[in-house]
Amino acid sequence: MKALAGGYARARDVPHALDLLAASDGGGRILAGGQSLIAAMNMRLSEGDMLIDISRILSLSGVIDEGDSMRIGALTRHASVGADPLIRRHAPLLADAVDYIAHAAIRNRGTIGGALAHADPAAEFPACAVALGATIHAEGPFGPREIAAEDFFEDVFTTALAEDEILTAVSVPKAGQGEAQILEEIARRSGDYALTGLCLVKRASGHRIVMFSAGPTPLLAGAAMAALDAGDLDGAVAALADALDPPSDTQASAAYRKHIAGVLLRRAVARIGEQQA
Ligand SMILES: Cc1cc2nc3c(=O)[nH]c(=O)nc-3n(C[C@H](O)[C@H](O)[C@H](O)COP(=O)(O)OP(=O)(O)OC[C@H]3O[C@@H](n4cnc5c(N)ncnc54)[C@H](O)[C@@H]3O)c2cc1C
Repeated sequence: MKALAGGYARARDVPHALDLLAASDGGGRILAGGQSLIAAMNMRLSEGDMLIDISRILSLSGVIDEGDSMRIGALTRHASVGADPLIRRHAPLLADAVDYIAHAAIRNRGTIGGALAHADPAAEFPACAVALGATIHAEGPFGPREIAAEDFFEDVFTTALAEDEILTAVSVPKAGQGEAQILEEIARRSGDYALTGLCLVKRASGHRIVMFSAGPTPLLAGAAMAALDAGDLDGAVAALADALDPPSDTQASAAYRKHIAGVLLRRAVARIGEQQA
């Protein structure tokens, strides 16, 4: 099947993109890497849209060192996130996540802003952003605003972005001394979306555990984090199972997803132990 014909306009810069969005009367769809949007249009899950192509807006690409944090432009492609020396050094979770996302062709086109705005519950970058305590930058007709990643993902494919806003960047704090960042997931085949995945960040201030592909949004598992802070791994595994209410689908049952959440947590904790031994 092919997408139905709709409109197309290439934005010169962010103000131009915002003007095009405002003029589209709710029918505008931002086109970044196109890896999810075009597939959805081909399947007629998204029809008759006015495509607003932001892919040539140079100011939305690249990584800026901002001292204690890094600002990653929305159009920074997955492959560039994985290869960027600043990100590899200061937010290894994001760089490691790239190896789990799809295949090389998709990683060469897909953008971090697209992955965050798309808010697929099985995607890696949204979970990483919550685990790292990232900040999402958006721009709309009333200027820029910042949204904590924890508040950004509202439901399946639904975010706090307003219809007339564009995601422009994500800021990620740099890892502190001795911080460990681990991503673990189980997928049927390399490059498939995760059946269930987990991000674990161990900071001086405590642990952060975020599950993905286990519910409608990335889940920050507070009780499991508290148990891990207290050194109680069995308690953390039990708390994680209590916190999850994953779906059953053709890929995996809810019971299996709950089970592997605990397996992934034990693996991640063991990897941190090996790293810090
Ligand atoms: C076969 C296949 C396998 C995949 N496997 C994985 C996987 O394992 N893990 C994973 O995480 N992802 C996976 N993906 C998705 C891939 O990572 C996408 O590239 C990504 O989700 C969307 O990025 P994009 O730049 O292509 O966005 P697009 O497809 O261009 O846009 C996606 C959505 O976000 C909106 N959008 C995009 N950018 C912005 C912005 N700056 N501001 C506001 N709205 C915006 C669009 O309007 C659209 O609704 C897979 C995709 C395919 C086709």
